[in-house]
Amino acid sequence: MKYALVTGGSRGIGRAVCVKLAQMGYHVIINYVSNQGEAEKTLNLVREAGQTGELMPFDVSNQVEMSHALDMWTESHPDEYIEVLVNNAGIRRDNLLALMPESDWHRVLDITLNGFYNVTQALLQPMMFHKYGRIVNMASVSGLKGMPGQSNYSAAKGGLIAATKALAQEVGRKNVTVNAVAPGFIRTDMVEGIDEAVWKKSIPMGRFGTPEEVAELVGFLVSPVAGYITGNVISINGGLYT
Ligand code: NAP
Repeated sequence: MKYALVTGGSRGIGRAVCVKLAQMGYHVIINYVSNQGEAEKTLNLVREAGQTGELMPFDVSNQVEMSHALDMWTESHPDEYIEVLVNNAGIRRDNLLALMPESDWHRVLDITLNGFYNVTQALLQPMMFHKYGRIVNMASVSGLKGMPGQSNYSAAKGGLIAATKALAQEVGRKNVTVNAVAPGFIRTDMVEGIDEAVWKKSIPMGRFGTPEEVAELVGFLVSPVAGYITGNVISINGGLYT
């Protein structure tokens, strides 16, 4: 049995990634923070793809909650390890910096950056020990270009990209690859309230992307054939920005 963990797997891009990983033969561990109903729908889709899976709720920014969940998993799987980690959980709390409450600054950074640290740190050693691992971090065009009204989100995703590059250099010799994916506008709950008809005019491909398109890219990066790609950030944005 090969194991993959997707943070924020209950909805949107994370859900599509869970299904893709199931199609690739992984037992998928679906993390989410509160939306059990949607997480169960993802689990059903994993099963429809012919694979097993399980739910693992925890807040990625909460080290204690996260350790408890992963320690329990490790205790019940003493001879196994999670070889694929997709750090996908994320939120946005957009505002001009001049008007941004401190709590919105911290929450976005906590989930993206502390979430990356917490989960990656917990899973990294077994990957290095087994000399095989794949880590994909869900960044954003905002982390490359910087988007007005998203200084918190841009800072978080830019930091995540830098951490991706640093970690890739630490673990390359152990055959663990670390890459980031930087989507543009993707049709999920996260872009609710953003009018596609208006924004698509600024996108060369003339449309928003789908979660499944992002999942295909993640599937490639975690596959054995992508074993010489590490420390990269790959844009998937319909030509919006590179
Ligand atoms: P989404 O539909 O809003 O889903 C967010 C997911 O993250 C949900 O599964 C949610 O769980 C989970 N989550 C939120 N906070 C969490 C926490 N503290 N701990 C664990 N899980 C948590 O978002 P999406 O559009 O699929 O976005 C997925 C990733 O892609 C994010 O990192 C986002 O920044 C990035 N991204 C999205 C777009 C886009 O246009 N959609 C563009 C660029 C980058 P619950 O269901 O329990 O709430």
